[in-house]
Amino acid sequence: MAEFDYDMFVIGIGSGGVRAARFAANFGARVAAAEDRYMGGTCVNVGCIPKKLFVYASHFSHDFEDANAYGWTVGGVSFDWPTLRDNKDKEISRLNGIYENMLVNAGVEVFKVRARVVDPHTVDVGGKMVTAKYILIATGGWPSVPNIPGNEHAITSNEFFHMEKWPERAIVVGGGYIAVELTGVFNGLGVNVTQLYRGPHFLRGFDDDVRYHLADEMRKQELDLRFNANIARIEKEGEVLVAVLEDGTQMRTDVILYATGRLPNSANIGLENSGVKLGKGGAVLVDEGFKTSVPSIYAIGDVIDRVQLTPVALEEGMVVANALFNEKAGAVDYKNIPTAVFSQPSIGTVGLTEGEARDKYGKVDIYKSDFKALKHTLTGRDERTLMKLIVHPETDVVLGVHMVGPEAGEIIQGIGIAIKAGATKATFDATIGIHPTSAEEFVTMREKVPDRKEDN
Ligand code: FAD
Ligand code: NDP
Repeated sequence: MAEFDYDMFVIGIGSGGVRAARFAANFGARVAAAEDRYMGGTCVNVGCIPKKLFVYASHFSHDFEDANAYGWTVGGVSFDWPTLRDNKDKEISRLNGIYENMLVNAGVEVFKVRARVVDPHTVDVGGKMVTAKYILIATGGWPSVPNIPGNEHAITSNEFFHMEKWPERAIVVGGGYIAVELTGVFNGLGVNVTQLYRGPHFLRGFDDDVRYHLADEMRKQELDLRFNANIARIEKEGEVLVAVLEDGTQMRTDVILYATGRLPNSANIGLENSGVKLGKGGAVLVDEGFKTSVPSIYAIGDVIDRVQLTPVALEEGMVVANALFNEKAGAVDYKNIPTAVFSQPSIGTVGLTEGEARDKYGKVDIYKSDFKALKHTLTGRDERTLMKLIVHPETDVVLGVHMVGPEAGEIIQGIGIAIKAGATKATFDATIGIHPTSAEEFVTMREKVPDRKEDN
């Protein structure tokens, strides 16, 4: 008889957990997994997928406006929130089924209950004790809302996707991925939206040109974007919410959405009893191979709080499955992870920002292009696209590529391959463009931005 009930027990059937469980089972391991909320985790249910569907929905309003210049008469348009919400829910239910079947078909035993670690090899699965050689913590993260008076009246991205009624006015608090994306969705879907960011400029950590360009483009859409602004307390007057800002300004609104970061979901899952060490904000501490301080317990994804992105959780899950059950030790390469923000217009980026590159290498060569896309020569829409390359002056290696404009994510995914392969600026220049596209600008930028005074 086997020493343990399973070779691996996965807690959390989200992006990382699904990947690790499925591949471990494919490699011949006896695997079980537990999920207490929704199959597929955050990305499928209240993250990437519904968010991107809503971004598509909201972009129609720009398209209806632009159609006119191309000869179309678009009349009598209106937006029906329950239709969008319910169609999205149908698609998500379909995906929930696909995720469950994917695991069951791979031979993974699926438990739809909450699981807790009892000791280094035992898991409490909804009251039933099971044992496993390895336990994988893949419990993701949860929105964190600052502790201010009245925060019980605020919602987070979790509730946003299921709102009963579509608001006329909304305030979004935060200046990261979720805040800019959902501000764009509200705006495109006709909501009078204000985004408040506590610091001097949002999207901290992104390239400065990208941050300034996006703020300019958002403001052209007449949404209310405020920096150095934060809510001190929230009051409720009947159906109306009153946000009292730190400077005393009062704003009346229907919805206040906090997108102020997500914390690792590591509390109350038994880690404190089993000796698993936690770091800042409750992040599970792991080594290069995702092993925690307890050798039989591993952790991946948002719960380790390295890079909160689905493709990263997938890769981490793959590394664990390979190492434990496929005799293939590996590590995740966190350098040059391409990423997109589905703001409107969108951001795509890979590699170093100009600031990071200067800190690391001193002088760097910058190539920049800021132009009106062909589509808008007819529509007259005042939207500009930004593209930027950061190049090492001696090796010619392209260190960073940044874009703000339509389909930035689609474009940067391809460029990410070139960067991974170590492409130089000469390789970009030797690549023939695809005409007429915006993307061809990346292979036709020849003029360096003049060096800054301090570089000479
Ligand atoms: P999750 O996907 O969160 O899965 C964890 C699962 O564990 C959950 O289903 C949870 O219910 C379950 N669980 C927790 N505790 C227990 C327990 N004790 N027992 C049983 N089950 C448990 N990333 C991108 O790459 N692109 C995007 O466009 C993008 N958009 C996003 C938009 C939003 C609004 C949000 C919130 C996130 C977005 N992300 C995006 C981030 C992405 O969703 C996460 O990085 C990813 O889901 C992390 O995967 P994970 O496996 O670590 O955790
Ligand atoms: P982020 O960490 O990206 O942004 C959090 C924002 O909230 C920051 O602007 C931060 O400001 C601000 N903030 C933090 N605490 C407070 C506070 N107490 N009061 C006011 N503002 C505060 O988190 P998100 O919630 O936007 O998203 C979580 C993660 O999910 C992202 O980091 C990303 O990894 C992932 N994601 C990915 C997406 C994609 O790939 N397209 C889309 C959505 C999410 P400051 O900068 O000053 O600290």
